[in-house]
Amino acid sequence: MSERITYDWLVVGAGFAGSILAERLAAERGDRVLVIDRRDHIAGNAFDHLDEAGVLIHRYGPHIFHTNSEAVFAHLSKFTEWRPYEHRVLAEVVRPTTGETIQVPMPINLDTINRLYGLDLSEDELEAWFAARAETVQQVRTSEDVVVGKVGRELYEMFFRGYTRKQWALDPSELDKSVTARVPTRTNRDDRYFTDRFQAMPLQGYTAMFARMLDHPLIDVRTGMEFAEARRRFSFRRVIWTGPVDEYFGFRHGRLPYRSLRFRHETLDQEWALPTGTVNHPAEATPFTRVSEYKHLTGQAHPKTSVTYEFPAAEGDPYYPIPRPENQALYKRYEALADGERDTWFVGRLATYRYYNMDQVVGQALATFERIQKSVLPAAANDAVAAGRVAAGD
Ligand code: FAD
Ligand code: UDP
Repeated sequence: MSERITYDWLVVGAGFAGSILAERLAAERGDRVLVIDRRDHIAGNAFDHLDEAGVLIHRYGPHIFHTNSEAVFAHLSKFTEWRPYEHRVLAEVVRPTTGETIQVPMPINLDTINRLYGLDLSEDELEAWFAARAETVQQVRTSEDVVVGKVGRELYEMFFRGYTRKQWALDPSELDKSVTARVPTRTNRDDRYFTDRFQAMPLQGYTAMFARMLDHPLIDVRTGMEFAEARRRFSFRRVIWTGPVDEYFGFRHGRLPYRSLRFRHETLDQEWALPTGTVNHPAEATPFTRVSEYKHLTGQAHPKTSVTYEFPAAEGDPYYPIPRPENQALYKRYEALADGERDTWFVGRLATYRYYNMDQVVGQALATFERIQKSVLPAAANDAVAAGRVAAGD
């Protein structure tokens, strides 16, 4: 008969939340860890792989790493080298004066406005130009308020309204302000999508970084495995849960809404397809929101190129928690249940129902590890206590 291993931890989900914690638990505490994922691969939504043509693509849409946290960047740097990369995005819109379709920098900046309206404004003049168009908003509450309060209704409708209605199947007026507030408005000529201190891509890709993180003698990884199956087949003392929090509790209080996407991956028999890493398509009549070309991100040299179109969808994998007050209220009910689970820790974008970027999930996982350190004895110490040796002063 084969010996049944008792793991100290079952980690459900091999994305950032699960993999960061698995590595810390094994490497820092000497705990035995089993990591499972229902998908047939590690790396969660950050999974990348070579497509049939040999181009490195991201299966779940473009993932661009950026952070202001030195600690997060330093931690990931243990598992990867980096390629400096600053993401740039163009938005395809119709010029109001001439009716022609043009691509202009997004976030909206000085060049966006000058090109769109055929102007030659300076930074100061643009401040005044925005101020003349901005609507007075008493209390900025929604994703509509954020934008119309800064740049006025015409630009809001051109760049934000259609995109947001497609992405979320909600009007910006029905979404928390934090959603469109992710995209700033600038009066200078900075055309980077992010302004974080650290902006870089893992040199050999995300999956390679995760493989190094999970490559530890105390970590076993099983992909293509559901939580229910792991529960039947293995023994474990504690759980790290990084899946949807409502799923863990059998949807007891009803389903938390998540927004999904369908990805259309294409390889083109040409060296380049787009002028920048991503082109956004805010027009409501266009069914996709954006198209991205990976070689800009990865720096890969290849005679062909691969792009991904993102089509928002109601059904499918739960990619985005939907930030609005009623959903937050429902999440709070699940959070109360989660707080009552003594041996399960809830970490990550789905388990804490937060619209987090990768670096925020890494930060949350590292903070969770610190909490575990304070409240759970490492496996070896636990065993010693059980054997009565610690009490004897060993
Ligand atoms: P996930 O990566 O979702 O991992 C959770 C894993 O748990 C999944 O692999 C799932 O299969 C598994 N799982 C769930 N339930 C079970 C179960 N019952 N049994 C077994 N396995 C289970 N962030 C950025 O910083 N920059 C970007 O450019 C960026 N772009 C993005 C683009 C898109 C289209 C999306 C959807 C997200 C993007 N993000 C980006 C966010 C980023 O994907 C997340 O912050 C990060 O991947 C979350 O990590 P996680 O570990 O919390 O969750
Ligand atoms: N957004 C928009 N137009 C754009 C880009 C973004 O209306 O051209 C809004 C939209 O609601 C989107 C949100 O801003 O969901 C956040 O954009 P971000 O690029 O951060 O989305 P993510 O990369 O997380 O999908």
